[in-house]
Amino acid sequence: MKSKIKDKLSIKQFAKEIISGNRIILSKAITLVESSLPADNESAQKIMGEIMPYTGRSIRVGITGVPGVGKSTFIEALGKYITSLNKKLAVLALDPSSKHSKGSILGDKTRMEELSNDPLAYIRPSPTKGSLGGVSAHSRETMLLCEAAGFEVIFIETVGVGQSETTVHGMVDFFLLLMLAGAGDELQGIKKGIMEMADAMVITKADGNNVKKAELAKKEYQNALHLYPLTTSGWVPPVTTCSAINNKGIKEIWELIIKHHETMKANGYFDKNRQQQNLAWMHETVLQHLQNSFYSNKKIKKTLISLENQVIDGKMPAINAALKLLEAYKKLTVDN
Ligand code: GDP
Repeated sequence: MKSKIKDKLSIKQFAKEIISGNRIILSKAITLVESSLPADNESAQKIMGEIMPYTGRSIRVGITGVPGVGKSTFIEALGKYITSLNKKLAVLALDPSSKHSKGSILGDKTRMEELSNDPLAYIRPSPTKGSLGGVSAHSRETMLLCEAAGFEVIFIETVGVGQSETTVHGMVDFFLLLMLAGAGDELQGIKKGIMEMADAMVITKADGNNVKKAELAKKEYQNALHLYPLTTSGWVPPVTTCSAINNKGIKEIWELIIKHHETMKANGYFDKNRQQQNLAWMHETVLQHLQNSFYSNKKIKKTLISLENQVIDGKMPAINAALKLLEAYKKLTVDN
């Protein structure tokens, strides 16, 4: 099927418009990236090829935290501060939740109204379907498209549940963990691994009656972080508090991100980290494509059902079934 999105523009014109900052064409390119039509994906890949030299120059910030921690309010406050410095900001969401639940956790409500109307900000809602692998591949490409369009800061927001924060951590230069005071680690679903990934932790809603609790939580988390081994970058993750509704502590968080950026640039970790992320992305893409090719193969699909039943009935060990399937796949690909 021919692409409905790409219309009359050539690939080169498309790329040129993106690089000149044309938001309508940028949005169309992102839709191509997210499309499930092979023709669209082919166009998207060609556009990606054209824009690559213009990518990589933004500061990429991942922001995570459980629903209700105050992510959108925080992003609105920090985002407005960044645009007040005359910097262009893109906000992307990585939200694979919609596959399992009725709707998307990040996409349901009207979020970041003020920032949406800011001419220096671009907010792209999360794709509404797909596996985490698919969604993260789209988000990476979307991030590069935004960089080509001149966005100097990219936020990638995700819900702090499940696997998505690990994926986001693998895409960004700075990973920010938002926490509630007094909710307890268990309640917040915060796994030790996530705290270890954080470049900074921010206790949200430090206002009114909550100020004391927030300060206490800050101390507790500072102590907890001391127990962790030093990060490979040499950066010691700070813990801060903020109140997004009162605009308190917001500027300081941006200054932290800049300080981290400058320190990592100077010690070489910034480039090394991005190189490693690119390599990991390459391998992930290979795996994703192999998996898609395997599970979408008609012959495999047929064999799969019968083997699944045999495994369920205990008639065949899982490993034997897996090897049989792989053997069948190998035969198919060799025959082709
Ligand atoms: P998200 O689900 O993580 O995106 O959280 P939201 O930004 O939607 O915020 C959840 C709730 O917390 C909303 O009712 C907000 O008004 C409230 N909230 C967010 N930030 C603050 C803050 O700085 N102070 C206070 N007191 N409430 C806040």
